[in-house]
Amino acid sequence: MLGQMMTQPLLISSLISHAERYHNDTEIVSVNAMDGTEVTTWGQVARNARKLGSALGKLGLEPQARCATIAWNNRRHLEIYYGTSGSDLVCHTVNPRLFPEQLVYIFNHAEDRVLFIDRTFLPLVAKLRDQLPELQHVILMGPRDDEAAAQVEGLLFYDEFIETGDADFAWPELDENTASSLCYTSGTTGHPKGVLYSHRSTVLHAFASNTPDCIGYSAKDIVLPVVPMFHVNAWGAVYACAMSGARMVLPGQDLHGEALVKLIDTWKVTLAMGVPTIWLGLLGYAEQAGSQLTSLKRTVVGGSACPPSMITEFRETYGVDTIHAWGMSEMSPLGSVNQPLAKHLDLPLEEQYRLRENQGRPPFGVDLKVVDDAGNELPRDGQATGELHVSGHWVLDSYFRKTREETLTNGWFDTGDVASLDPDGYLTIRDRSKDIIKSGGEWISSVELENIAIGHPKLADAAVVGVHHDKWDERPILVAVKAQGESPGEDELRSYYEDKIAHWQIPDRVVFVDALPRNATGKVLKRDLRAQFNDILSETV
Ligand code: ADP
Repeated sequence: MLGQMMTQPLLISSLISHAERYHNDTEIVSVNAMDGTEVTTWGQVARNARKLGSALGKLGLEPQARCATIAWNNRRHLEIYYGTSGSDLVCHTVNPRLFPEQLVYIFNHAEDRVLFIDRTFLPLVAKLRDQLPELQHVILMGPRDDEAAAQVEGLLFYDEFIETGDADFAWPELDENTASSLCYTSGTTGHPKGVLYSHRSTVLHAFASNTPDCIGYSAKDIVLPVVPMFHVNAWGAVYACAMSGARMVLPGQDLHGEALVKLIDTWKVTLAMGVPTIWLGLLGYAEQAGSQLTSLKRTVVGGSACPPSMITEFRETYGVDTIHAWGMSEMSPLGSVNQPLAKHLDLPLEEQYRLRENQGRPPFGVDLKVVDDAGNELPRDGQATGELHVSGHWVLDSYFRKTREETLTNGWFDTGDVASLDPDGYLTIRDRSKDIIKSGGEWISSVELENIAIGHPKLADAAVVGVHHDKWDERPILVAVKAQGESPGEDELRSYYEDKIAHWQIPDRVVFVDALPRNATGKVLKRDLRAQFNDILSETV
């Protein structure tokens, strides 16, 4: 033996132990569901998480038992993340915006034994309780509440429950490949599918997130994860912030522009993360209220394509750098992040700005390729467009209770996205493969048409879908939401496209709606729009 380095398993408990020891008094601000806004610390969160781990141990749950949460981003939820995973249980975050039937399916498929809930979700759980035979304990995330106790039989109270645990509980040493957490995809078709993350994949994802060309959370940051903790672990922020000792502001339930602007200004948030619709609300309110968002330095935008007009507004009005990121539940979720390379820094500013618009490059640990229908890899020339396949340390190998063969294609995960890669590995997502518009043998990117429409000052929101056309099979139509007090005409919007894209790509029609239908993760339900407007062009021919 020539010598050797230590081998320590990559465990989620090591993240919270690090935060407890080295960022003990670093602040966590939490907007709670029952007891208002509080300021606590990583040290206190860690101590409560250990008590929780110990208390859960006394319930006699089997190792790897699933413990579900239906909760907002708040301090107790953070403690549950660590208290469950750290003690060999699986933290199963559930999206409350799913339909009740989907929720029942998910709870029973996961065989959740424990369910932690915020007060908001008590009526929902009271209604579903009888349909969840595997569930043993429901724990309300707050102090004792007799009115709540009357609604769910055997209801426990978090604040009392953790006091049954030992404060000096030591985290068990686990195999790093055991499961730590579970998240179901929204499942626009068929049942939701479970993605089971491991301790190892989660810690490696946190390391990568913390590199400077990724997100690079810092101990100097005050981080506002607007992206919910029930949505791919708040994009991993919960773990990466413990690793770096970043301060966190957990926003609770109210994610409207006004609440977010106030949180940013009050707590001097430097870095915020969320989906584009959330930032539309925030930018609208900031302008109306005259906030300069002075403390904010960076926003991370992903989950859907970030419209270039949003990047421009953040930069020019607020001096905020927008980091466009792409990923999915099956990737923990980070797949790529847009940051410049050294060679870009000498380019004219306009050119640099343009390069920041796409979905960015993969960090070390993720590999991307674009393939044609037959599975052949396409050139990385920024032009060739095909199905995006991925692999890597934090990419799914098999869905929960499914086989590898059912999940992967030749050892790669098929994202269902249509994309191109340039020679430096910058990714441009053209569309979801089911949403791309096939017009007479040519492909039209709905994302590109939406990005242009959202840049129109008289529109508040926009989606583009392909609908039936007798001659061209499918043609794009623009489904638009007018900005407050504006009434743009159809011709005005169509001519706005004139100098921006090829003439044949311009949407055939514009229809106005009050709001776009969205799924539980905030993505536009294009299937519904297609169903609603499918005949709109046939009627006019
Ligand atoms: P998440 O839960 O993180 O939103 P989902 O698994 O629900 O992930 O959805 C992932 C899909 O969202 C991707 O496959 C892609 O179609 C879309 N998506 C995510 N980020 C972006 C982005 N920056 N640009 C375009 N599409 C995106």
